[in-house]
Amino acid sequence: MKLAAIFGAALLALAPTQSKRPDKPEVCPYCKNDPALMNAAGVVSHGPVPIADKTSAELSAHAPGATWIVLETAHLRWASSLGETSVSQKERERVDAELAQLRAVLPAVPDKPRKLDPWLRLHLYAMKGEQLYTRFQAVLQVKDADFPEAPRVEPPYMGIGKFLGEQDKFEVVLHTTRASHARFTQSFSGVAVTDSFRWHVPKLHKFVVSAPAEDSDLREDRWLWPHVVHNLSHVFLCAYKHFAYDPPPWLDEGLALVLEKEAEPLSHTLEGEEGSYSDTRGPSDFGERARKLAASGKAKTLAQLTAAKSYDELGTDGLVQVWSITRFLLEQHPDKYALFLGRIKGQLDAKGLQTGEDLPGLQRTALKEIWGWSSADLDAAWSAWASAPAPKPGK
Ligand SMILES: [Zn+2]
Repeated sequence: MKLAAIFGAALLALAPTQSKRPDKPEVCPYCKNDPALMNAAGVVSHGPVPIADKTSAELSAHAPGATWIVLETAHLRWASSLGETSVSQKERERVDAELAQLRAVLPAVPDKPRKLDPWLRLHLYAMKGEQLYTRFQAVLQVKDADFPEAPRVEPPYMGIGKFLGEQDKFEVVLHTTRASHARFTQSFSGVAVTDSFRWHVPKLHKFVVSAPAEDSDLREDRWLWPHVVHNLSHVFLCAYKHFAYDPPPWLDEGLALVLEKEAEPLSHTLEGEEGSYSDTRGPSDFGERARKLAASGKAKTLAQLTAAKSYDELGTDGLVQVWSITRFLLEQHPDKYALFLGRIKGQLDAKGLQTGEDLPGLQRTALKEIWGWSSADLDAAWSAWASAPAPKPGK
């Protein structure tokens, strides 16, 4: 009864929007329910699709107050209640380049629009989401075919499903309001969450990310997109070879920050109680801060960073440092870094079951076997690289 009442209220709330815009199409104006267009654009479905423990058709009941549209691609599902947005002069070039990519597969995408409507926004997120997935697979040096359809006994161990080791696709839910995000997260986790939230859905073996795009640091796509990248990096790494234990925070956070800053150099998402910020906290220039840290001799050791049990414990300089160490490993030792991630994520016990036991010990062994390095050797190699005066590209 309660659900019915809520659903009724949601329908009433939608009515003014619909009457104000009677011309609003039911179908996506870009792929137009045309199988050939959808196929070309990598669109598997515009819904309804599964989302968390429900379907996208039920979103209005659990995250009311908005019109939801959805898009599923090869590896991700998106649900969005975001409205239209203006393209600022600052963003013009970047948005036009993205629109040109989309127009190559969806000819109805307009040229230099002043505003992006909700469908266009969602299509851009979905397109960039698949590009990020490709980038992440390149970091791990894996491809779809490396992952099993179902758990298998033969080595190498790669998880229990074809989505980096999970059984189902990654889901991202973008809310216009924090209230909607809180109601939605409560509906499946039992906790009304304030800030962006990542969740491994029990039994379904998939990850969902929910983000409230209400505050100024997340309302604009310029900041929301890199924040989504940060969150997706975390769930992709957790998913790799199936999520059975948390990866070391330094490793997980370092990669998330690297990919976030590849998307937008000025964005950095901080984990923890205070949620996420863009450029309002911490150093604006991570590269310069990392160089100073390395040159000062006051940087933490990898052993100290590894001892941090949470993102908070890393501290601001620690976050800069794990970002910089990750860039060093990824840029100077990409093959070894990929092997290292695979070792840390795929630890099995004597019975062949996943175990997160003694990750610092596993890390020491992996450093020695892959690089021939002790933890202190990595500190010295990173310090020499990071303190070099030549400016590094990116920030
Ligand atoms: Zn479409």
